Amino acid sequence: MLATGATTPRDLQIPGREGDGVHFAMEYLLKNTKSLLDSNLEDRNYISAKDRKVIVIGGGDTGTDCIGTSLRHGCKSLVNFEIMSKPPEDRADNNPWPTWPAIFRVDYGHEEATARDGQDPRVYSISGKEFIRDESGKLLGINTIEVDAEFQAIEGTEKFWDADLILLSMGFLGPEHYISEPLDLELDKRSNYKADYGKFLTSHEKVFAAGDCRRGQSLVVRAIDEGRLAATAIDTYLES
Ligand SMILES: Cc1cc2nc3c(=O)[nH]c(=O)nc-3n(C[C@H](O)[C@H](O)[C@H](O)COP(=O)(O)OP(=O)(O)OC[C@H]3O[C@@H](n4cnc5c(N)ncnc54)[C@H](O)[C@@H]3O)c2cc1C
Repeated sequence: MLATGATTPRDLQIPGREGDGVHFAMEYLLKNTKSLLDSNLEDRNYISAKDRKVIVIGGGDTGTDCIGTSLRHGCKSLVNFEIMSKPPEDRADNNPWPTWPAIFRVDYGHEEATARDGQDPRVYSISGKEFIRDESGKLLGINTIEVDAEFQAIEGTEKFWDADLILLSMGFLGPEHYISEPLDLELDKRSNYKADYGKFLTSHEKVFAAGDCRRGQSLVVRAIDEGRLAATAIDTYLES
């Protein structure tokens, strides 16, 4: 039974990517939580945002956690880039009930940032063009450009943003494949382990899969549901 999660992060492959100061969100969040649980952050075994100029790239739940954690570390400044345009306050005509309402939301990280800095940290319709570094490779910031609804760059909107810590939280691209490759498992179009919901059996006759590694990065409630149903499916398989 594979329940390994969907942990391959989407990268931002633009010039200047290699070097200090640019981290995947989960590296930042995981180290922080481990150090917090191990030593209440006293072992210093984490990436600190204290007194740093932080930019979080990506406006989902993971980005919100990066915002909240950076604030609690005591970052100097904080900006959150989102490539999508700002969602409407109410449902758009093409987003009727019962579909998930794609509307503007204020999560805890945004509230905490507004309470501290007096403004929401989110900047919409923006895309990174180049990480800027000095001769020694030290991160100085990022050049961006505004984009339209089709993510096409809008000429003349280039801007430099000062930053010495940039966190990438632009979603996940399915599970890592060091288990699926030796087992020669079939993958779906989004590179998750292919297994039907309800049966949870992969292309290998003795391997099941459930949760994010089967359906892609999702929600805890769905992972619990899949875990329970997959246990039942395995029981049925063993009894037959
Ligand atoms: C930053 C962040 C914030 C989120 N916030 C929310 C939220 O607010 N609400 C919500 O509902 N969902 C949230 N999610 C999504 C939610 O965490 C996942 O959908 C859910 O945890 C998926 O459960 P899972 O059991 O499939 O995988 P995971 O929870 O990812 O668990 C996989 C486990 O397998 C372990 N593992 C991986 N490979 C191996 C191996 N080879 N051997 C042994 N162990 C292995 C991993 O260490 C991990 O413990 C968030 C996700 C992230 C990344």
